[in-house]
Amino acid sequence: MPTPDDNPSRAAAALSRFSGSPVGHFIAGRSDAGSGETFDTHCPADGRLLARVARGTAADVDRAAVAAREAFESWAATGGAQRRAILHAIADGIVARADEIALIEVMDTGQPIRYMAKAALRAAENFRFFADRAPSANDGLSLPSADHVNYTTRQPIGPVGVITPWNTPFMLSTWKIAPALAAGCTVVHKPAEWSPLTASLLAEICSDAGLPAGVLNTVHGLGEEAGVALTEHPDIKAIAFVGESVTGSRIMKQGADTLKRVHFELGGKNPVIVFDDADLDRALDAVLFMIYSLNGERCTSSSRVLIQASIYDDFTTRLAERVARIRVGDPLDPATELGPLIHARHLDKVLSYPAKARAEGATVAAGGNRSDFGGGMGHFVEPTLYTGATSDMTIAQEEIFGPVLTAIAFEDEAEAVRIANGVRYGLAGYLWTRDTGRAHRVSRALDAGMVWVNSENVRHLPTPFGGMKASGIGRDGGDYSFDFYMETKNIAIALDSHTIPRIGA
Ligand code: NAD
Repeated sequence: MPTPDDNPSRAAAALSRFSGSPVGHFIAGRSDAGSGETFDTHCPADGRLLARVARGTAADVDRAAVAAREAFESWAATGGAQRRAILHAIADGIVARADEIALIEVMDTGQPIRYMAKAALRAAENFRFFADRAPSANDGLSLPSADHVNYTTRQPIGPVGVITPWNTPFMLSTWKIAPALAAGCTVVHKPAEWSPLTASLLAEICSDAGLPAGVLNTVHGLGEEAGVALTEHPDIKAIAFVGESVTGSRIMKQGADTLKRVHFELGGKNPVIVFDDADLDRALDAVLFMIYSLNGERCTSSSRVLIQASIYDDFTTRLAERVARIRVGDPLDPATELGPLIHARHLDKVLSYPAKARAEGATVAAGGNRSDFGGGMGHFVEPTLYTGATSDMTIAQEEIFGPVLTAIAFEDEAEAVRIANGVRYGLAGYLWTRDTGRAHRVSRALDAGMVWVNSENVRHLPTPFGGMKASGIGRDGGDYSFDFYMETKNIAIALDSHTIPRIGA
């Protein structure tokens, strides 16, 4: 039975498979070295080289897109029961290798093991959930009129591109790939270049589970090379993208010539509003969890806490005490609550904000520095809390995507809503109150695709997931995913009772 003390040696064993030749693409059911050009991926905790990875070119993307096109007809025609069986087999494969996936994910992303172990299992749940919906994916509606029987049916749109970010790569990619496969689409996946390794595991697990060659293809590489080629490829009918808002806007331009359908899950600057009548102990736990777990590298993190003025000082004092006690450390250690940030460039970005915060008049109430954990080898930061902030400050407007919380005071409901909505993003909103009427009013007033009341981000897979404004286009989850990966067709059959206009008679 493995114990946490074994984590470093088990992680080393899991990574040893990447130490030989470069990690290849996976195209048409085979590992594919591509052009021979590579890029490196390093461990954020100590900078060690984990692997060299194939650096995809337009030619590699083309081979993958052709493989996806050639596999499409047969996969789309595969019965729903068969697709369901294969997707469940993939989930079984993920569960069987959950430990290995989690350890590799920790080493490649710097996310603490306490969260990644669950993320691997959530990935399996994503496959099971959409597996069970595969048999009904084509179903539609009956919409009869007086003279026609109308009914709708759905068919998979074709080969699709899936482009994912580096923060929780394995879980996030399954959230896109599982519904695409359940719908009958074939996929070309371009994982993020800062944490590419578990994408190769997913391709392998899918193949071992009996997914036919060409149905899931993985092309590693840089956004501006492989990513661009994928979004411009004429055989790719749609792009499901998770990442930054600015990248989403580039992808929209890149996909314009081939009229790509796009689904975007983008950035956020999500508010958590704490009213003075709330259960403040539960609110405190949720506020802390939603920004300082997953290294704060989470699209739905509550990066702004809006606190009613009557409780502002008490609540921020309690927050600061807890923030100072968050355990920064080795991400393989189960006791660690905050690991290293993904990359030196991201560390520099996060550390650029304390000076801006001070210059604009906020207080750094906790953290604000590079953490000395790891002796300067890793990208560790102190968990940071800004207080005395106002909504116009940079720290209240920009997505920092790190363990950094900005606390803003408000007087009443109207001001809370104004501040909450006063950013370009609109992904998630959280609010804490015991007043039921207010819970409904504020939920309705928030510009957010998802609102949680008296809760942290607890996902339920049938519900819609996605954002408004600069946070995204479209929704995932349940049947919403099929709306994206499928075309809806209406079929009208006459009852032979209506009058057909006669011309030239
Ligand atoms: P990013 O936009 O830099 O990169 C995401 C992916 O896009 C990577 O695979 C990258 O290689 C690729 N890419 C970059 N430029 C491209 C281009 N021109 N054409 C095609 N592909 C391109 O994002 P990131 O830094 O990896 O991830 C962090 C961001 O992701 C944050 O903004 C975060 O909020 C967002 N995110 C959103 C959600 C959500 O559900 N809304 C979930 C997780 C992360």
